[in-house]
Amino acid sequence: MKKKQELYAGKAKSVYYTDDPNKLILFFRNDTSAFDGEKVDQLDRKGMVNNYFNNFIMQKLEENGIETHQIELISDQESVVKKLDMMPIECVIRNIATGSLCRRLGVEDGLDLNPPTFEFFLKNDELHDPMINDYHIRSFGWANDAEIEAMKILTFKVNDILSKLFSDAGLLLVDYKLEFGRFNGNIVLGDEFTPDGCRLWDMETRQKMDKDRFRQGLGGVVEAYEEVALRLGVKLPE
Ligand code: 5GP
Repeated sequence: MKKKQELYAGKAKSVYYTDDPNKLILFFRNDTSAFDGEKVDQLDRKGMVNNYFNNFIMQKLEENGIETHQIELISDQESVVKKLDMMPIECVIRNIATGSLCRRLGVEDGLDLNPPTFEFFLKNDELHDPMINDYHIRSFGWANDAEIEAMKILTFKVNDILSKLFSDAGLLLVDYKLEFGRFNGNIVLGDEFTPDGCRLWDMETRQKMDKDRFRQGLGGVVEAYEEVALRLGVKLPE
């Protein structure tokens, strides 16, 4: 497969066309950013760890009946994926209250949410990813009723699969963000699932093992990602 020109450069990944119009290459860079790109840094090994981590999670989801865009890992920092028609929407599930939920609603940090809560956000850095609802999505034509329903159902299904996977590794899946796209008439999971886009706390100590370590300047960011990978059994190169 030939890598062609860049389609899009995000804050931590670059996306390339290939000689197959239905496939793209994701390049996981070492860049990390927070607060809509206000805080940025380069972290050794991060691109590689996230590429292997994402490949592992996407495979687990596929094994459990969730269609994802992931096809295969082709180098330490690259994967081939199906080219989806992405919806500009972020789907967030929260099992424990923290982050923007606490800032917005004034609820106690660390509160268990039973049942978990679901939120849609518009993917738009300039507007700081504002929260939106089903009506906004329909009125602005970002997705139709069936697609909205599918995104909710799939995001909750992912929660069941991954909460168990992480809990078996001694980790709490606190919250996470998913993005979906259209492919051959189906709603398919796109983007990535890595510690950059979810919160993971150690079950015993509640120590943060995700990008909050970078956001909050706690250090040991990639070390924490590698510890999570190790606990899950993700095989990383030396
Ligand atoms: P919050 O709304 O509390 O900032 O984020 C909720 C969850 O979604 C967190 O796990 C966070 O990492 C993830 N999330 C929300 N928006 C983004 C985003 O724009 N980029 C990334 N990487 N993760 C996000």
